[in-house]
Amino acid sequence: MLSIIPTPIGNLKDITIRAKEMLAACDAIICEDTRVTGQLLKLLELPKKEFISFHGYTDEGKADYIVQRLQKGEHLCLVSDAGTPGISDPGYIVVSRVRAAGLQIEALPGPSAFLVALSASGLPINQFLYLGFLPLKKGRQTLLQSFQSEERTIVFYESPHRIQKTLAELATVLSEQPERVVVIARELTKMHEQIIYTSISSLEKESKEMTVKGEFTVVLGPHP
Ligand code: SAM
Repeated sequence: MLSIIPTPIGNLKDITIRAKEMLAACDAIICEDTRVTGQLLKLLELPKKEFISFHGYTDEGKADYIVQRLQKGEHLCLVSDAGTPGISDPGYIVVSRVRAAGLQIEALPGPSAFLVALSASGLPINQFLYLGFLPLKKGRQTLLQSFQSEERTIVFYESPHRIQKTLAELATVLSEQPERVVVIARELTKMHEQIIYTSISSLEKESKEMTVKGEFTVVLGPHP
């Protein structure tokens, strides 16, 4: 069986009891970075495990190997560096191959940065649009322009290197909607967590004043 195990996005206490039990009991753990997952097991005081590293789309052969091991009856856990596997990180290929092979999959609920940001945002979230990381070039401008008429709350991930540039682009493309809400969630669940609630009209000022370190998730309110 393949168990998909979300792991904390910052606060170690966000691991679930079930996730810990699975990680302790499985035969091996499929992970992105063996050092990150090794450190997680150590902090959770879990026994050492065999790691099968899996980085993404280039690991086609590895996906076959994982399927073969599951076919032998092994219990493998899939984790990513943080959060829910497959949400803007490797994992999808493994799950799709295992699913295609007709093998048993169990997915545990757990942390994901975009869900924490949405729930803290105070914006309407009965419906929302999750975009992962915005495209760097192709389609970027068209996508940003589509935000002008989007009636759902939008949530996306951004790196510290690009956050200010992206916020400046948002301010430009939405300059005719100055009251539209933007929530910048930084370092969620960590010691230096910061949630900036602002609007398009103040976005550039806020962006220049904020600390540009750590991990960012941006939530944009719907078209008024
Ligand atoms: N699988 C993860 C999940 O379920 O949230 C997301 C993985 S993606 C490679 C990593 C991105 O998620 C970061 O670059 C950042 O944009 C966002 N992120 C992760 N942890 C975060 C945190 N603690 N606070 C804010 N954003 C975070």
